[in-house]
Amino acid sequence: MVKENQDSEQMPKDENETEQRASPVVDALGTGIVESYQKLMREFGIQDFSPLIHKLPPEKRHFLMTRGIIFGHTGMEPVIEAIINADKFAVMTGIKPSNPYHVGSLMTAMEVVHFQRLGGKVYFCIADYESYVVNNLSLNDAVDTAIDNVADLLALGLDLKNAYIYKQSSEDLVKHYGLIFSAHVTMNELRGVYGEKPRLGYYNAALIQVADILLPQIMEGPMPTITPVGADQAPHARLSRDIVRRGFFKKRFTLPSFTYHRLIGGIDGSDKMSKRNPLSSFYLHEEMKEISYKIRNAFTGGRDTAEEQRRLGGRPEICRVFDLFKFMFEEDDNSLVEREQQCRSGELLCGPCKKQLIVRIEDYRRDHLEKKENLREQAKEIVLSLETPQV
Ligand code: SF4
Repeated sequence: MVKENQDSEQMPKDENETEQRASPVVDALGTGIVESYQKLMREFGIQDFSPLIHKLPPEKRHFLMTRGIIFGHTGMEPVIEAIINADKFAVMTGIKPSNPYHVGSLMTAMEVVHFQRLGGKVYFCIADYESYVVNNLSLNDAVDTAIDNVADLLALGLDLKNAYIYKQSSEDLVKHYGLIFSAHVTMNELRGVYGEKPRLGYYNAALIQVADILLPQIMEGPMPTITPVGADQAPHARLSRDIVRRGFFKKRFTLPSFTYHRLIGGIDGSDKMSKRNPLSSFYLHEEMKEISYKIRNAFTGGRDTAEEQRRLGGRPEICRVFDLFKFMFEEDDNSLVEREQQCRSGELLCGPCKKQLIVRIEDYRRDHLEKKENLREQAKEIVLSLETPQV
């Protein structure tokens, strides 16, 4: 969806749902695993991001771009032009306030902060209507998590001077436009994107998300708008662009742009990081001993014995420890390349490699949590200043 979903799913399965067909992304990929990005790109008309990287000066490229983690885009050219010409553009993001940020969500937040540093105004949506509909979380109960999420974003470097933070429940424009869009979309289209849902609220929430994507333009007029999403959000992104192509919306809005990033697989070797599987991911607020346990038991590309690994080398391409360095915990490209070479040559074994990752996470975690604690009061003020309607 628009927002970084905490659980890397577009619409988590309702516990009461007994029948739900696979989402179109799953259909497109065949296996239910986002493993065939080429296939996804063909299916959803996603373009290769790499030719765009060279249009940006080196200091404006993020390692998520140069390492191919951001692998695709739709309609990103106007945003690139705006960055180069220092013109106005917006960056849209948000999160369901149902859980703290895990390591996968932090990556999207890093991307958003980077686009802000390139000149974009950030629109951050606290998707409390969606957590109400999907997670049965009352609007009031979502407040504490929303404060925590905003504190994370501030700790990552969000500049409040160029940002607009809002809640779906307190922003009348997204509710209004969600309703307007509902008159231009058929139920078949919604079923095609989200599958069969047991309650209308799921589809309502999806249309409010389309309004979230367009809120910068609703409030400030037409302008390039970038929404970074995970690969699993491609159907929702396409629906948003399709709606804007209809009727009077064509004149009202600039087509929204999207970047697509790869999803980090579960640390334990499972397909994806999921809150339902605690060993697949970690939160920075977890005790270090718990995080260390998960890393020590991570799925790697190592061999059965040390002797075999020295002889044959490791396989970083399937290794979740290497992924964590690549996606988040190694900013220096040369150091990452060196690690890959040492792994492939058998010079580096998995035990020491995991220990290095644990040290890296520990340093990052300490620094992040310290910043976050200092910013928590500010986050609280921001969230509590947004009115929560009583149901
Ligand atoms: S040495 Fe490191 S990168 Fe290579 S397979 Fe082992 S844990 Fe993964």
